[in-house]
Amino acid sequence: MTTRTFFVGGNHKCNGNKASIKALVSELNKVESKSNVEIIIAPPSIYLDYTQSLVDSGKIQLSAQNCYSETKGAFTGEIAAEMVKDLNINWVIIGHSERRSIFGESGELLAKKTKHAIDIGLKVIFCIGEQLADRQSSKTEAVLSAQLGDLKSLDKKQWDSIVIAYEPVWAIGTGVTATPDQAQDTHKYVRSWLKDNIDETVAAKTSIMYGGSVGAANCNALAEKPDVDGFLVGGASLIATDFSTIIKSAS
Ligand code: PEP
Repeated sequence: MTTRTFFVGGNHKCNGNKASIKALVSELNKVESKSNVEIIIAPPSIYLDYTQSLVDSGKIQLSAQNCYSETKGAFTGEIAAEMVKDLNINWVIIGHSERRSIFGESGELLAKKTKHAIDIGLKVIFCIGEQLADRQSSKTEAVLSAQLGDLKSLDKKQWDSIVIAYEPVWAIGTGVTATPDQAQDTHKYVRSWLKDNIDETVAAKTSIMYGGSVGAANCNALAEKPDVDGFLVGGASLIATDFSTIIKSAS
């Protein structure tokens, strides 16, 4: 059996300031985690460099929440993957449901961003997830298949730089979490998609994080599921005690 890395990511979204980041990081620097766990926090891009100066880099890695598909140029308000890399940051989140729905990012753009980020040496947390109406009309697998299908143009080798985050949109920021069985069944489907459409080795070794209202109270039951290889956490990642509990839930 392949042992997969258990990733715990904190997506701060558009929250925080220098004082709150300093307080949070000073607590997270003290967390003792298991050896198979990687901790990644994603503050707003304007604070990446500042946060980098505070973290214990042996314990905590940083991620951008987004980056653009082009190297440089007339793209006001965007940051390039190269700029993320220039700060010695190795991760970027791509395809978060808020980028897809609020900012209208298409599957085609997300595939371009992902490919470019990996080409210049970043690792990507690629988010997928269905809306409530999709789940209620049994379209979850079709939606996830289409979102994953956007990555079909990647080379097999590029999958070494991808972690999937399955985040049902109805669970993000709502306080409603997928049950452990729902998460397991969906992660199993994602893994079978990888096996059928990419390759068996990629399917076995790609970590699949769950995201959507993960907190201190529900992380342990979710983490026990065999295909849940970590969490992408929004709200609870801003609270040091809760995020620490989630980090320690790794199975
Ligand atoms: C997220 O933003 O990726 C997320 C899962 O948010 P929350 O944990 O607040 O539901």
